[in-house]
Amino acid sequence: MSTHVLVLGGGYAGVMAANRLSGRDDVEVTLVNPRPRFVERVRLHQVAAGTHGGLHDWAEVLGERVRVVVDEATHVDTAHRRVRLAGGTDLPYDHLVYAVGSHATDAGVPGAAEHALAVSTFESATRLRATLDTTPTAPVVVVGGGPTGIETAAELAETGRAVTLVCGGVLAPYVRPSARRAVARRLARLGVTVLERPRATEVRARSLLLDDGRTLDGLTVWATGFAVSDLARRSGLATDATGRLLTDETLTSVDDDRVVGAGDAVAPSGVPQRASCQAAVPLGARAADTVLAHVDGRVAAPVDNVFFGQCIALGREAATFQASRADDTAVALHVSGRAGALLKEGVTRQIVQGLAREARRPGSTRLPSSASARARALAAAATDRVTSPPPQARVDA
Ligand SMILES: Cc1cc2nc3c(=O)[nH]c(=O)nc-3n(C[C@H](O)[C@H](O)[C@H](O)COP(=O)(O)OP(=O)(O)OC[C@H]3O[C@@H](n4cnc5c(N)ncnc54)[C@H](O)[C@@H]3O)c2cc1C
Repeated sequence: MSTHVLVLGGGYAGVMAANRLSGRDDVEVTLVNPRPRFVERVRLHQVAAGTHGGLHDWAEVLGERVRVVVDEATHVDTAHRRVRLAGGTDLPYDHLVYAVGSHATDAGVPGAAEHALAVSTFESATRLRATLDTTPTAPVVVVGGGPTGIETAAELAETGRAVTLVCGGVLAPYVRPSARRAVARRLARLGVTVLERPRATEVRARSLLLDDGRTLDGLTVWATGFAVSDLARRSGLATDATGRLLTDETLTSVDDDRVVGAGDAVAPSGVPQRASCQAAVPLGARAADTVLAHVDGRVAAPVDNVFFGQCIALGREAATFQASRADDTAVALHVSGRAGALLKEGVTRQIVQGLAREARRPGSTRLPSSASARARALAAAATDRVTSPPPQARVDA
């Protein structure tokens, strides 16, 4: 008898999980996603600027054995193992992968929800593109000094827009000072005005108010960080304070071992990894491995993701790659300029290629693993607590 796994969310984590699960003949996989195509979310600032389409057909990235349902989950009924969809139908499952991702937060700033545009979803990036098309000379004020705000500011400035970047704190807080200087130099070269200290206090239809008393005219683009869906919380599953599904170290819900999480929407042991594609892809693979361990009655292996750094695109001609330790803290190494841009584009392409490879050969993605993770896995295997093989080391993005 086959096992039915329902994957909620067709982003990086959900697609990786669905592909990996589809390698087993005794597992049927259904993926639920509100859109009929895969969104390359890390390119949404490019969608807004008109330099990339941001979409891929499912056939490019998803295995043939994965059934796609274009709809949105509105409730998870764990007691009866069914998911209610917005379209009105219920889908039963044996195991569920919760990978519904994230979206922009307005941080509670008055007027942001009504008047600010965003790049966090395909719909919001497309709306921004359309607004820019109808207001060709309007200046743009991007709020958010992290990678999404910086990438959006640079991409729009490169198209000839007058852009101001309001950071509300230090520019590019993740990176080391030398990398930050490289980012600032490139933004200056593109003509972006960077305001580090002031914070946005109110958004109006065509202006932004700052806490230092200034008013900046133009379209406001909001990029201050990501929030997650309240689907898990609404469904009675335990979450952290922000609404991320609370799981153990194997990504299994602390309430129900039939529910496994991955990507931005999950908080393993209450500690979410940086909201990133870099974490979402391996988490998706590990979620699939955990589900298969549950199906087989094996003990699942704990997650231990490895980070490599943060790569910030600065338009099409430059980027800054800040290297990190495996634990996601920046080190004194960065690559900037044209070399950074080549690295960024190569890694971005490799992500989609990696999903496509897993679609063709499920199980082929080798998971990055820190030395400590390998040591723990070997120790656990030696004491027979973990029966699945230890993950193999691999350095990729
Ligand atoms: C402009 C931009 C640039 C970025 N650049 C980088 C970068 O360079 N490097 C990096 O590592 N990260 C980057 N990120 C962050 C990265 O895109 C996210 O962290 C990543 O997409 C998370 O993957 P995910 O699979 O968890 O979620 P997502 O990619 O958000 O996918 C979740 C999917 O679930 C769907 N969904 C939502 N609710 C439901 C529901 N109720 N039912 C069914 N489906 C649902 C969504 O529509 C979506 O398709 C960037 C983000 C943005 C916006």
